[in-house]
Order: sequence, then C-alpha cells, then structure tokens
Amino acid sequence: MDVVSTAKRSEIMSRIRGRNTRPEWVLRRYLFSQGFRYRINYEALPGHPDLAFPRYRTAVFVHGCFWHQHPGCKYAAHPKSNVEFWEEKFRRNQERDARKTAELEALGWRVLVVWECELKGKNPEILPKMARRIREGIMK
Ligand SMILES: [Zn+2]
Repeated sequence: MDVVSTAKRSEIMSRIRGRNTRPEWVLRRYLFSQGFRYRINYEALPGHPDLAFPRYRTAVFVHGCFWHQHPGCKYAAHPKSNVEFWEEKFRRNQERDARKTAELEALGWRVLVVWECELKGKNPEILPKMARRIREGIMK
C-alpha cells in the first residue's frame, strides 16, 4: 500500500529536483564531469569551503547573492523594512567572508568565489572559467 499521498510525494519529488538544480550542484556536477575531485564542506579548513580542491590548494565558495551581498546584483536588493537589522546582518556576513578568506590565504590556499546568479540559466559561462581558474592553482 502507498502510505505517502500523491500530493506529499510530488512535494518530496520537487524538493529533490530543487536540490539537484541548486546553483552549487550545477557547479559540482560540471567540475566532476571535467575530472575534478573535491571535498564538500571541508571541515579541516577555516570557513568549511563549499568545495575544496586539495591538489590545487584552492577553495571555492558559492555565495548566495542576497546573504553575501553581491555588488550591483539585482538579487542583492536590501529589504525595505527592518533596515538596520539587515544592514547589520549583511555587514557581519561580509566581515566573516573576509576573515575566512584571510585565514585560508594564510594557510596557502587560494579562494575563489562564485555567485549564485552566475550559475543560473542553461550552460552558464562561468563553468569553464571556474575550471580554468582552479587549474591555475597547480601551474604555479
Ligand atoms: Zn548575483
């Protein structure tokens, strides 16, 4: 017997689909297909980078445009209410980003940032660019 209702099942399915189309997934799937192997949310590094490439000593963060305030991005518009609350929140996020980047660089890692909006749409141009930037880490 089917214990999960049709509505419930379609909700579950859409959540799974949603997860697989998340911007971070788009990047991961592409890089994996290009032969890159990486650690996900690598706990051994400051800031637990979304993707870490030990061979290239390169850490990649996929930043949400809103939370990390992508400069000039339409997804980074400030909410019109609770202005002070949001500004404080954004300021702290940006400070944390800067601190984690500095900590990683002090350990000899390069830090690359991809914005979520860059990963939207079909065949985003950023994908081959990221592959090149990651490979540059080993050429030095
Ligand atoms: Zn953006």
